[in-house]
Amino acid sequence: MASSVRAAFIDRDGVINEERNYVYKIQDFVLLPGVLEALKIFQDTGFLLIVVTNQAGIARGYYDSKAVEELHFYMRSLFSDSGIMIDKIYYCPHHREGIVKKYAIDCNCRKPAPGMLIQAVNEFNINTAQSVLIGDKISDIQAGRRAGVGCNVLVESGHPFETSTRFLADYVVADLLAAAQLFSMRS
Ligand SMILES: [Mg+2]
Ligand SMILES: [Zn+2]
Repeated sequence: MASSVRAAFIDRDGVINEERNYVYKIQDFVLLPGVLEALKIFQDTGFLLIVVTNQAGIARGYYDSKAVEELHFYMRSLFSDSGIMIDKIYYCPHHREGIVKKYAIDCNCRKPAPGMLIQAVNEFNINTAQSVLIGDKISDIQAGRRAGVGCNVLVESGHPFETSTRFLADYVVADLLAAAQLFSMRS
């Protein structure tokens, strides 16, 4: 029998927090409007909350994984104050052209590769067809498609994208809140 576990796979920068180049400091982490409400809707509708984020800044030597984990601890504390529990955060520290040797690889987790999504699917027994992905870049949408995610939503709250990118997404909406409202039981 197919799993009934549904997940919302959510990109971080440009979807949860303001897109700035290489966010790793708490003072650069600014929640986008409506994000807490959006996460609450996904959670109340029965989606697991899975964050999937490329963090090539680690491979590039701009910051280390400790900084990322401290930032995520802070992010989780902002969410838990509103009763929101993120089930898991996956981040890819790699980049082919990185300067930190152990991370300078062609990995299978950097989006558009689906590695982080596949890891989550295996770990939580997620039904991908019943799941949703929200991202601000074409690489997010491509990762979702490769992992078999049923609905891939592009948001306009982050990185600017080419018009042609729109056609690869199932929906294009303003932000995470608008995406959540698409799937809300209340809608
Ligand atoms: Mg992003
Ligand atoms: Zn990776």
